[in-house]
Amino acid sequence: MNKDLIIVGSGLGGLSAALRMAVKGYNVTILEKYHKAGGRLNQFSEGGFTFDLGPSFMSMTYEFDQFFKDCGIENPLKMKSLDPLYKVNFRGNNKFFNITKDIDKLAAEFAGIENNFKEKAEKYLLKAGQFFHDTENIVVKQNFDNLFDYFLKISKVPLKHLPYLNKKLWNLLDETFDSMEVKVIFSLVAFFLGSTPFKTPSIYSLLNYTEFKHNGYWLVEGGMYTIVEEIIKALNKYNVKIIYNTEIVSVNQDSGKVTSVIDSKGKEWKAGNFIINADAASFRGEILKRKNYSNDKLDKMEWSLAPLTIYLGIKGKIKNLYHHNYFLGNNFPEYAKNIFSSSSIPSKPYYYVNMSSYTDPLCAPDNCENLFILCPVPDLRFKSDWTDKELIADDIISDLSERIGHDIDKNTIFKKILTPEDWGAMFNLYKGSGLGLSHKMMQVGGFRPSNKDESYTNLFYVGASTTPGTGLPMVLISSKLVTERILNEH
Ligand SMILES: Cc1cc2nc3c(=O)[nH]c(=O)nc-3n(C[C@H](O)[C@H](O)[C@H](O)COP(=O)(O)OP(=O)(O)OC[C@H]3O[C@@H](n4cnc5c(N)ncnc54)[C@H](O)[C@@H]3O)c2cc1C
Repeated sequence: MNKDLIIVGSGLGGLSAALRMAVKGYNVTILEKYHKAGGRLNQFSEGGFTFDLGPSFMSMTYEFDQFFKDCGIENPLKMKSLDPLYKVNFRGNNKFFNITKDIDKLAAEFAGIENNFKEKAEKYLLKAGQFFHDTENIVVKQNFDNLFDYFLKISKVPLKHLPYLNKKLWNLLDETFDSMEVKVIFSLVAFFLGSTPFKTPSIYSLLNYTEFKHNGYWLVEGGMYTIVEEIIKALNKYNVKIIYNTEIVSVNQDSGKVTSVIDSKGKEWKAGNFIINADAASFRGEILKRKNYSNDKLDKMEWSLAPLTIYLGIKGKIKNLYHHNYFLGNNFPEYAKNIFSSSSIPSKPYYYVNMSSYTDPLCAPDNCENLFILCPVPDLRFKSDWTDKELIADDIISDLSERIGHDIDKNTIFKKILTPEDWGAMFNLYKGSGLGLSHKMMQVGGFRPSNKDESYTNLFYVGASTTPGTGLPMVLISSKLVTERILNEH
């Protein structure tokens, strides 16, 4: 049997699949279009500042223990649990809500705005915990061979959850809580999925369970990129090669099998099996030219938000920021309903700020801070011109300065802005969508692009737009599912 394996893409999906397969005796080569490994889980340094490019925290850290254990390695990552989980400020209100896993402390935060918070939250989280535990092994950690197999598997999910499939997260929160602040804060998990609570099914309240009751949020000591560095160290032991600046643009096939992939310089790369870590939907459309994934069809799919990200090196210490901070407005329903399909950015956007120098002083020179700002914006289908990026960034920076009482503009010694156009170009993210295909019911489980190709028996997929979905722990599970499939089939 041919044990040569090519993986296209060195995101977390590609790297983790590579290690799992190398451990099983495969000769793995990774072909990566970017100049550095990690995909969206990337990093850059400039002027003494180090920035994580995208991911800044994670949940379900036990999936990393499991991953390294599966590969026969003790988890080398030192994780730090975040407490508080994050802080939230609403425009026009000086208060910074401290969001913690301690429900009593949380009730104290919401005193005066939400009566009986503890009782309501406990009931809500109990239900959310049932969603989590009743679907984790039956739906999330499963391969589906076809729709029939999918329906057979989800028929084992208790029927009592059925009504929640059609209900949106916002409706469930609206039924549970009275105060707009509490509803909005609990709905931030939809944002982690790259969507809004008005589009996200209520079953995803299970993410509230993971944040408040289950595993919480964690960062990795040394920065998130340590994950990539540690996996690469392990890959080196198995002589896995990563070839950078190599973009795959087409495939050769024979008798229902891919025989080689071709890069943009015309070089042919042969192997017995291929795993694609590029987006599982757009690769099928743009490289394999599948009709079901034509540009028209891809455009009609529901994609997650696009990121506008700002990286700032700041002189001086900032007092009013924590590791994770959300700066929100006070017109949430209206804002959230319009933002993803609007062709312009409202003048007072909602945004997230991460200051990793708060927990890791090595990320910034002495007496300095590094700020990462993420503002969810429409993807390139709706807003294709980003020549206004400086204006949008200035607006956010002046709003942030006012809200934290620190003149950021005056103290900026480094600034970089990445638009959806940049994100799309760097990692081939479809129309700049940051998290890949959304998690609406018709795009999850058996409806999500499969990790097994429809036509070629030796072509597989790993990553955010195949099963089970987006986010670092899900992508690790994705690599487990695809390698199980390959090892079972070959
Ligand atoms: C701004 C931002 C913030 C985020 N924050 C978090 C967070 O805090 N926590 C969290 O859990 N998740 C977060 N995510 C989501 C998380 O980053 C992704 O779910 C995850 O990293 C996806 O990994 P992947 O391996 O599927 O894809 P990618 O990371 O996109 O990797 C795919 C790789 O394939 C390469 N590639 C693509 N096409 C080709 C080709 N044709 N030839 C060769 N190479 C190719 C790309 O260059 C890339 O390196 C965030 C995402 C973004 C954008």
